[in-house]
Amino acid sequence: MLSVVPTPLTVRAPAKVNLHLGVGDVRPDGFHELVTVFQALSLHDDVTLTPADALTLHVTGEGVRDVPTDPTNLAARAVVALAERYGRDPNMRIDIAKGIPVAGGMAGGSADAAAALLGAATLWGLDIERDELDEVAASLGSDVPFSLHGHTALGTGRGERLIPALARGEFHWTLALAREGLSTPAVYRELDRLREAGDPPRAGSPDDLLAAVASGDPHRLAPLLVNDLQAAALSLQPGLRRTLRAGMEAGALAGIVSGSGPTCAFLCASADDAVDVGTELAGAGVCRTVRVASGPVPGATVVP
Ligand code: ATP
Repeated sequence: MLSVVPTPLTVRAPAKVNLHLGVGDVRPDGFHELVTVFQALSLHDDVTLTPADALTLHVTGEGVRDVPTDPTNLAARAVVALAERYGRDPNMRIDIAKGIPVAGGMAGGSADAAAALLGAATLWGLDIERDELDEVAASLGSDVPFSLHGHTALGTGRGERLIPALARGEFHWTLALAREGLSTPAVYRELDRLREAGDPPRAGSPDDLLAAVASGDPHRLAPLLVNDLQAAALSLQPGLRRTLRAGMEAGALAGIVSGSGPTCAFLCASADDAVDVGTELAGAGVCRTVRVASGPVPGATVVP
């Protein structure tokens, strides 16, 4: 059956928060072995693809000045990687409307890569299995497969090997966006340094946390949130301690640095509580801006 793909084609991809981020030792390839539980949140980027004579990038929205508009942009790399693998012409105009903070530990670049992969595969009518798309996704970055899949998932390896996790209901989050970004490699280097200097505690098994996610009870989940990168992110940006404290004082159930930071994610008991916590955080002057979001949500999705 012939199906006509409307152009321009827009794909929406979500931000993520790591509910559990256990960082193991450095592997021979330089990556750290991870055990992580991702949750996709209702904060997203929209990536629009339009066939054109050249590959060009146009970025609007949150943090645009730090997003490359050259071939290093992850969305462009995704289109080129897919085009090379399936013998297609990568020329197209890519418009990215950013809602995910840049260099915020919420996988914004990975979301754009996932959206561009799904968009290009749809535009070209590629008849490929999800596994093949996952393979290209993993070659672009550790978080890209999760950005494709969304929902809640356990990630191992570099975070690219995914097992879907059961989640009941909806969890409510307030996100405190920082003034300055943090470079993910710098945060891992800082963790290595802290581990050489001492023996900071390491996250244990995520089993109890996975059971709490399945229960849908935020009060049960709150004390189990853990991030091995948090100490390193706080060491590089000590001001984040104030942000975390302010969120707790405002009534959040728990607060953690999201991934490699510096975004702080606060789990709240309800959507109303999340708005209240956001209002207090904004007033306390401990962050650049705040967002409320809920999860889990689906991964990259073509916008009808
Ligand atoms: P992660 O949580 O996956 O470690 P992050 O959310 O902390 O990543 P990103 O927003 O993905 O960080 O950006 C990291 C860097 O990647 C940016 O500083 C930017 O230079 C580069 N980059 C490349 N492509 C993109 C893109 N499409 N959007 C944002 N940043 C991009």
